[in-house]
Amino acid sequence: MPKVQHDPARVIARHTLTSPGARETTEARARKSSLAIASSRRAAPGAVGAEARPEAARPWHIAKHVSAYLDPGADTRLTRRHVRYAQRAVLWRESRLQRVRHCGRVTTGGDGGNVVTKIAEGVAHFSGLQSCGSVWACPVCNPKINNHRAGEISAAAARWDRAGNTVLMVTFTFPHDLGMRLAPLLVLLADGFRAVISGRPWRRVRDDLGIVGSIRSVETTHGGSGWHPHAHVLIFAKGATDPAGIAQLAAYMRGRWAKWITGQGYRMPHGIHGVDIGICRSAQEAGNYVAKTHDGRSVGNEIARGDMKQGRSGSRTPFEILDDFRWTGNAEDLDLWHEYETATKGHQAITWSRGLREILAAGPELTDEEVAAEEVGGAPVAVITAPVWRQITAVPGLDAALLAEAETSGLAGMNALLARHGISPALPPDR
Ligand SMILES: [Zn+2]
Repeated sequence: MPKVQHDPARVIARHTLTSPGARETTEARARKSSLAIASSRRAAPGAVGAEARPEAARPWHIAKHVSAYLDPGADTRLTRRHVRYAQRAVLWRESRLQRVRHCGRVTTGGDGGNVVTKIAEGVAHFSGLQSCGSVWACPVCNPKINNHRAGEISAAAARWDRAGNTVLMVTFTFPHDLGMRLAPLLVLLADGFRAVISGRPWRRVRDDLGIVGSIRSVETTHGGSGWHPHAHVLIFAKGATDPAGIAQLAAYMRGRWAKWITGQGYRMPHGIHGVDIGICRSAQEAGNYVAKTHDGRSVGNEIARGDMKQGRSGSRTPFEILDDFRWTGNAEDLDLWHEYETATKGHQAITWSRGLREILAAGPELTDEEVAAEEVGGAPVAVITAPVWRQITAVPGLDAALLAEAETSGLAGMNALLARHGISPALPPDR
């Protein structure tokens, strides 16, 4: 597997962590680059899209190159897809997880190894490709899985709310320092939450408040104090929980959490932000709280960073770290990414407490892999043979660009784009 050299000339100085507000979003960055490329295209017509590519192009070269395919006026959906595919293409080279290296690149082998482009409700996709189903490490599978989970959780929360009940949102954080490894911190968090919802004192609070169960999600950011794993929890309680009830729950959870964290040798959690409790105001908020649907940023994420409000540093989501690596080639960012994808592998991202799915009439749970591999169907537009597909995946950004062409100009548009790269045409579906 190609490995980025730790060549000091190439490694840009360690990130000066900017405040979250100052950081450009991955989408803004892609748009800005595509604007720059569009203006250079005017200066030298025909140059972009046909230029020679260095064989071993580095990701930070790829980043700008991929933006050549992005129409500066493209809508948000297109820009997001473009960014996600470009991030995944970096992982085709750099990920340590084989499933991720294969995701959206290696064919399943069905239909003779052909890749079929289909359009469903105006949105194009490829079928016949492997999908990794990694909610943690795949920029393309993550939003599919989280959209599904957020929708399912929002619907369940809405039913619970309409029946006159309460959903509470609780965030668990703890103090950590730069240099602490992520893997043991994730175990600490999961074990700690299990400790909070077990034992006699918990059962007393649970029964007093009519709590029927919880949905817990684990996520992490990285900032000036290193890895920041935290848990977002939705608590489902019967009836309308009054302020006294919330105070009782807060007092219990803060006490139990602090005891657990200090008992494991870590510093005392923040008195208030260590366990942050609020009432959920909308079903959509509930879904987004535990299953982020917009590049890992949401109000919930801001709440989770309550213990870092000292203004000394901002923090990045793992996909922001990956995107920074895509643009800069910073080897430290790649190291962080490798630590993240390895440490999270095998961990469950979202966990429903036992019996809660039945209580909320949520139906059977699909695995992450099942959600990611779900075939959405649609009308076939083009058939791409296996050898042609291999050529396509060798050109960074071409896969997402072909989907955009399929949506606007169909097979003819796809083949015009392929011809610009000297690649054989895709075939009509009724060959
Ligand atoms: Zn994937």
